[in-house]
Amino acid sequence: MNKDFDYKKTLGQNFLVDKNIINKIIDDVKHSSYDMIIEIGPGSGALTSELKKLNIPLFAFEIDKRLESELSKLEDDNTKIIFSDFLSISLKDFLKDKGCSNLLIIGNIPYYITTPIVKKVTSESNAKDVILMVQNEVALRYASKPCSKSYGSISVYVQYNYDVKEIAFVNKKCFYPVPKVDSSVIKLSRKNNNIINEDKFYSFIKKAFSHKRKTLKNNLVNYDFGFIYNNYLKNNNFSETCRAEELGVQDYINIFNLIN
Ligand code: SAH
Repeated sequence: MNKDFDYKKTLGQNFLVDKNIINKIIDDVKHSSYDMIIEIGPGSGALTSELKKLNIPLFAFEIDKRLESELSKLEDDNTKIIFSDFLSISLKDFLKDKGCSNLLIIGNIPYYITTPIVKKVTSESNAKDVILMVQNEVALRYASKPCSKSYGSISVYVQYNYDVKEIAFVNKKCFYPVPKVDSSVIKLSRKNNNIINEDKFYSFIKKAFSHKRKTLKNNLVNYDFGFIYNNYLKNNNFSETCRAEELGVQDYINIFNLIN
């Protein structure tokens, strides 16, 4: 990268410079078969140039036009760079005529858009895998299990659709400029489930976790808790005063299916 480049904090521009981390990510990608790759935030192309070697149709969305001279060098029949804000495109429309069935979405993206990106890719695509660089603490929250400190509605939200695995721990020194915190590369792999109304499911989980210190009963005010307790919780060894964090993802799915 040109040493005079003015890295923009507001765009989360911390570029990956450690080859080992790039290799670890690419190794993981090589172990699955994809028919299309979407990269978010290619920057100066550290990952893009390696992904390109896999010869799979690759579309990279970059918001910063200043990177055009670096990135356009990578373009060819299989590799397209699109200068747009990934959050404001319609992913559904973009994918409509592409006919891909094994999509990988990948990105070393700014931390402040991790959750919007995850929500967007889960609701607007049926990506097979999503590989993202996230703040270490966010990785913990995504992957955590019931009763642990970091378990919350976002854990259920992610794990309901995906299996979560950490591909690599990434020391902050692997980036330039060096950010304040360490990161992790996580991989979300889609699983099949049978909830029809996802929006309704998410608002149910949000309610369940709305006040950490309250019991599930007190959080689920607009739901028939008596029914939930008598028809599910009791039979599955949960007490009437249990808290949201004690229930696993499958428990939430089962209860939701029962009340809808
Ligand atoms: N992937 C590169 C760059 C990481 S920095 C590497 O690993 O080296 C994050 C990148 O995301 C920057 O290039 C930034 O300009 C870009 N970016 C930030 N917000 C974006 C958005 N909404 N849509 C697309 N790209 C974005």
